[in-house]
Amino acid sequence: MIILGIETTCDETGISLIECENNRLRILKNELASQYKVHNKFGGVVPILAAREHTKNLPILLKKINQDFNLEKIDYLAFSVGPGLLPALIAGKEFVIKLAEKLNKKIIPVDHLSAHWYSVLIKNKSGWQKIKQIDFPTLILIVSGGHTNLYLFENWGKRKKLGQTLDDAAGESLDKAARILNLGYPGGPQIEKMSKLAKKYYMLPKPILNKGYNFSFSGLKTAFSELVKEIKKYQKLNQQTVADLSFSFQKTVFEILIYKIKKAVSEFSPKTIIVAGGVSANQTLRKMIKNVLPNFKIYFPEKTLATDNGVNIALAGYLLVKNKRKVIGASKLDVYQRLP
Ligand code: AMP
Ligand code: MG
Repeated sequence: MIILGIETTCDETGISLIECENNRLRILKNELASQYKVHNKFGGVVPILAAREHTKNLPILLKKINQDFNLEKIDYLAFSVGPGLLPALIAGKEFVIKLAEKLNKKIIPVDHLSAHWYSVLIKNKSGWQKIKQIDFPTLILIVSGGHTNLYLFENWGKRKKLGQTLDDAAGESLDKAARILNLGYPGGPQIEKMSKLAKKYYMLPKPILNKGYNFSFSGLKTAFSELVKEIKKYQKLNQQTVADLSFSFQKTVFEILIYKIKKAVSEFSPKTIIVAGGVSANQTLRKMIKNVLPNFKIYFPEKTLATDNGVNIALAGYLLVKNKRKVIGASKLDVYQRLP
């Protein structure tokens, strides 16, 4: 089965082609156009600009795939219908509808979050590979630019959401902290880089830490912003101070995430843990989680599959079709800022 996966939920335009059979997969093509340069000067994603970039880049990426692959051979188009930014999703939807009509193919609607958790099952490499099997129950943390969700999965078909962020997502909070420090967008990787140079830790609050499994990062961001203002009153922000502040913010966010993971581990005794989404690319976060749970099988995506891309969407599409999820005609396609 050959699936074309299309990703336009936020600021990455991704189109990938995969071939799958009997729980095996090979990536035939993987095209990605990142928009970080467009959004950098705004310190965050501007939805309408994201939509414009998707509309511009989708035909370019498809052309690259079409150069050495006959699109008629595709079995399904997998498309991430949300959650995401509406203008960005609508740009993708218009493209997918036209393509599905032109090729006369059915569409597999893919939940963007499922694409994140399935991303840990494969490697980003050429050639055939087995899709990993994992032991359940598994605890899943999705930490991205738009989401911080904690789930317990009995199996792939049965899940319970334990908690989510009540305001900013973890990635979004790192992006905002980076903006306060003038580090550019996306902020997560910049904060990670600067943190390595730190010599000092500034204490910051951990909102709603002891209250269940929800997260809250906006109060932390405000406290951080106040701290930076205070420091600026008596000194210029030099590189060392920026490093110390980056480290302190990152450490606080990660300690909050880990606190909730540990709490869920002791309450629900999962057999495995999955941490996925853009923030999971962070090597310090990975080390911190492994250190506190040394005896656990913990799955992280490969760095290039942690952030948004078409391979994750195509893989999710395959797993959905394999499990008899209905496919739809182009006229039935709709997109969602939040999934119903
Ligand atoms: P996604 O929404 O899954 O595409 O992920 C994008 C988010 O991941 C943004 O908020 C980035 O700042 C964040 N991110 C990407 N790489 C890293 C990293 N190495 N460390 C921390 N956050 C990261
Ligand atoms: Mg994402």
